[in-house]
Amino acid sequence: MKCVNCLGEARTIDAQMNGIDINCPNCGHFSVSASVLRQRPGRSLDAEKTRVFLHNELDINPGHLPVINSENVIWAPTG
Ligand SMILES: [Zn+2]
Repeated sequence: MKCVNCLGEARTIDAQMNGIDINCPNCGHFSVSASVLRQRPGRSLDAEKTRVFLHNELDINPGHLPVINSENVIWAPTG
């Protein structure tokens, strides 16, 4: 499957009921909540800002899997 963030080839682990785990060579290992996946059709994430967000999350909380959820998701500007 493709990475939700950068749309590159990534390894995804679909096993979670409440979202998806993505292991992307560009973005790292993170999780995306089911609510974001539901909101996503027709939209895309701001790949650069999301990558910065993921880096910051790992700085704050090393060893913790960053989760992109409906509270912190950064959508790319539309229009
Ligand atoms: Zn990616």
